[in-house]
Amino acid sequence: MYQDLLLLARTIEYTPIGIVVLRTDGKVHYVNRFAEQMFNQSRETLLGKIIDHSVSDYTGKVTWEEIWTAMLQGELAEASVVIEPPGKDATVCKVQSFFIKGNENYQDSLALIFRDMTQDIRITDQIEKKNLEMAKMNSELIRSNAEWKRVSEMKSNFLSIASHELKTPLTSIKGYSDIIIDNMKDKLDGSIYRMIESINRAADRLHKVVNNILDVTRIEQKRLRLKPELLDLRAVIYDCIDELAQFSLKRNITFTCNIPDSLPSFYGDKMRMQQVFTNLFSNALKYSPDGSSVWVSVSLEESDKFHIIVKDNGIGIDKTEQKNIFYPFYEVGSVNSHSTSYSSFMGGGTGLGLSIVKGIVERHGGRIWVASDGVKENTFPGSEFHITMPVQAEIHWDDDETRALYIDRMEPQSYIEENLPHVDEKPTILFIDSDREAVEIARMVLESAFDILVAESGESGLTMALQHKPSIILLDSYLPGLDGYRLCRILRTQEETRDTPIAFFSAGTQNDEIQKCFASGADDFVVKPFSGRELVDKIWRILMKKKEGQFN
Ligand code: ADP
Repeated sequence: MYQDLLLLARTIEYTPIGIVVLRTDGKVHYVNRFAEQMFNQSRETLLGKIIDHSVSDYTGKVTWEEIWTAMLQGELAEASVVIEPPGKDATVCKVQSFFIKGNENYQDSLALIFRDMTQDIRITDQIEKKNLEMAKMNSELIRSNAEWKRVSEMKSNFLSIASHELKTPLTSIKGYSDIIIDNMKDKLDGSIYRMIESINRAADRLHKVVNNILDVTRIEQKRLRLKPELLDLRAVIYDCIDELAQFSLKRNITFTCNIPDSLPSFYGDKMRMQQVFTNLFSNALKYSPDGSSVWVSVSLEESDKFHIIVKDNGIGIDKTEQKNIFYPFYEVGSVNSHSTSYSSFMGGGTGLGLSIVKGIVERHGGRIWVASDGVKENTFPGSEFHITMPVQAEIHWDDDETRALYIDRMEPQSYIEENLPHVDEKPTILFIDSDREAVEIARMVLESAFDILVAESGESGLTMALQHKPSIILLDSYLPGLDGYRLCRILRTQEETRDTPIAFFSAGTQNDEIQKCFASGADDFVVKPFSGRELVDKIWRILMKKKEGQFN
């Protein structure tokens, strides 16, 4: 028994935790060796003393005396304290206590166990400091992210507005040059005629760029609308190859297709899918040497996914650039200077094509990536563009009106020609538009087949419509004073014009603008810049539908 007690006493004495026993008056009754080290004072110095001057509360809110008194009274079991021993650095300790009830041999006492927490607290402090720094960095990141989003939105809005603004003057350039090309070839000197043709081609190119910018902003703002239908993917691909024949023949580049006859129908937007293939094929042509080949293959993966590969043996794409080329406005620098013995490849695009392709593919629930061994001097490693697309993508028509509009656009040309209405009297068109140039072009294109009336404001348009009861009204949405939408609503309430076909005539192609036109009672929409042929076709179609009673 005595041996056991001795062992216990030694254990307490040498345990690596500071143990201090206080009497009820706060004076030290016992300290073990570790406590001697913690207080940096010998047992002899500490015994019978009060240690209040060496210990303080970690938070500094209470005194050590208050702490041990509360512990003695059973009100507090644990506290964090700082021990400041003479001639030694302070240590931060967690102190736990328990009361020892006295008997005839010894008085009531308070046992205190001091655990050195300096290291832990230092680490916690560091973690807290780091957390604080991270929180600061995080809030800076959130701020710069918000700023980036704001700038990016501003850029998209700017591009969208600038592109719309460009469309109006483009209407004049394209319209007038169309008229000259169609009607004045014999009257013009050959060189002037060629210049006009060049202006016309430049206007077409600029129109494409403007449309591409609008597409990029639609994709960035998640506003790309799809009009899906069941498609024969094989036919879509072959049509796109045929469309590029003039370029592939000139460069002696052959397309080889491996597309099974028995592919299931694909549910997607025809016009957008044509855009995807035309972009990929024209890039393959653009970045390949004369006389090379382009391969197109389509296969079914797991029966519900198409895997499309467009492979060329052109200049290839550097591995580090393969992700970047799908960002808008990104062009690989080396492309501009690359040349071979056959021909030189001047990239010189806008860097928009692939970002649009990616946006369209992803909008159909698909994925696109590129594989290439990279660019090597004087060799043609080629590039392979891969697309996977669900056969039945979960996409919907965005609304019935645009569907109607779209189906209208898809009617074959022969349908229009066969069904041109035979009229004894020239129909009258009333243009209500303040854009004089556009009206002038329309007049020149249409005046042989129609009587033309023009009003430059909503108010005068209303008067003329009621007075002349035209066969069709074409009006612009942006009119000074009474705007196009309000005017259209008024026309629909008037006896004289209730059933007159009305089409909007505007540079806006945003879906909400189109919807607004239909909502205000219009029957159709003509987008500027238009070609003369487009305008004639559209107007005939509107009149024909009217005749067949489709608007009622
Ligand atoms: P661009 O109008 O410049 O062709 P794209 O977005 O279509 O714009 O392509 C971005 C860039 O990707 C191109 O400038 C070109 O550097 C590279 N690229 C695209 N397709 C190919 C290809 N088939 N072979 C080599 N480089 C290509």
